Amino acid sequence: MQNISSYDFKGKRAIVRVDFNVPLDENFKITDDTRIRAAIPTLKKVLEKGGSLIIMSHLGRPKGVDNKFSLKHIIYRVEELLGVKVQFADDCMKAGAQAAALKPGEVLLLENLRFYAEEEGKPRGLAADATDEEKKAAKAVVKASQKEFVKTLASYADCYINDAFGTAHRAHASTALIASYFPNDKMFGYVMEGEIAAIDKVLGNPARPLTAIIGGAKVSSKIGIIEHLLDLVDNLIIGGGMVYTFKKAQGGKIGNSLCEDDQQEVALNILAKAKEKGVNVVLSDVVVAADAFANDAKTVICPSDNIPDGFEGMDAAPESIEAAKKIIMASKTILWNGPVGVFEMPNFAVGTNAIAEALKEATDNGAFTLVGGGDSVAAVTQMGYADKVSYVSTGGGAMLEYLEGKVLPGIAAIRE
Ligand code: AMP
Repeated sequence: MQNISSYDFKGKRAIVRVDFNVPLDENFKITDDTRIRAAIPTLKKVLEKGGSLIIMSHLGRPKGVDNKFSLKHIIYRVEELLGVKVQFADDCMKAGAQAAALKPGEVLLLENLRFYAEEEGKPRGLAADATDEEKKAAKAVVKASQKEFVKTLASYADCYINDAFGTAHRAHASTALIASYFPNDKMFGYVMEGEIAAIDKVLGNPARPLTAIIGGAKVSSKIGIIEHLLDLVDNLIIGGGMVYTFKKAQGGKIGNSLCEDDQQEVALNILAKAKEKGVNVVLSDVVVAADAFANDAKTVICPSDNIPDGFEGMDAAPESIEAAKKIIMASKTILWNGPVGVFEMPNFAVGTNAIAEALKEATDNGAFTLVGGGDSVAAVTQMGYADKVSYVSTGGGAMLEYLEGKVLPGIAAIRE
């Protein structure tokens, strides 16, 4: 594996997998260009060092060629941000001549890779009632043609850069398979390097105490992370809708609060394991409960294991926030994933905003703070703290899988 900062791009054509999967409005104007901006340092590096660029990405979830998901809509913004004219290949499989003609400093953007089923390697257009045999046969067909797809992409370039952390957990043609064509000329881009370094700072050899704050709606979707973190953290703060499954499992009265009855045993196991490993688990013990799932509902502050009938837990109450804050301020490394209340409703965003605030303060005091996951990232951004915490991860699903301790194909393909 190579390093983007030291690699000699002079006269080389670099094929770069970026994540240009940006939201577009009905006139195909970009409504949030964060992901494009994130990739610019990597792209500029290649150009500054005398290389040329072949940029590839997906956009949305097309089922085939579909103008709605064409990457041509975003060329204008890439040109503005790079300050270079961007050529376009309107079929990613027919870009050979354009790629071969690239001179140092020139840029070619390939059309949406997912116009081809081979990018994901998953068959399309299967009948809803397809049998397992038919599904298997269709998958074998796509997998066979995927080899040719990867080979064609690889033929355009001399080196490969993966800078799409958001899709690193997928073993797709452009995120993982293509790397084997560049055994001595493959590397991470700066987005990937930053994400990996930040997560490794938490999972590797963190400054202690290490605290994880895991919120969100469901135990079932966070169980993988929690189990992995139990081996690593000193403190585990659990907030949000998940709390009530724990409290009910412990015999508490939770009113109409969110609860996954089939996860109660899992919850008790987590608590038992934490005890065994000496992890300090803190659940929101006092909460704001409401008589309806609405911003203007009537509220009471009550213990999370004694919620009045007709009420449901909606947010962490000041007592719980204080308890969490005390732990956060005493920690040297903090990971936060998931809101501690129904933060989409302003009246129940108080707890989540307070966590964002505490993370900012902890960062000011020298702690390393990593925020990941769509909702927690939205919370720190709304509070204006996105650049006041140590690192905000952009890769939702990829980050979660990394935190679960899984090997991400997009990372493994570069490293191996
Ligand atoms: P997740 O995607 O699992 O991180 O969950 C995020 C969602 O959890 C957000 O949409 C929150 O509104 C929701 N959430 C947080 N706390 C609660 C709660 N007490 N009751 C219901 N939903 C909640």
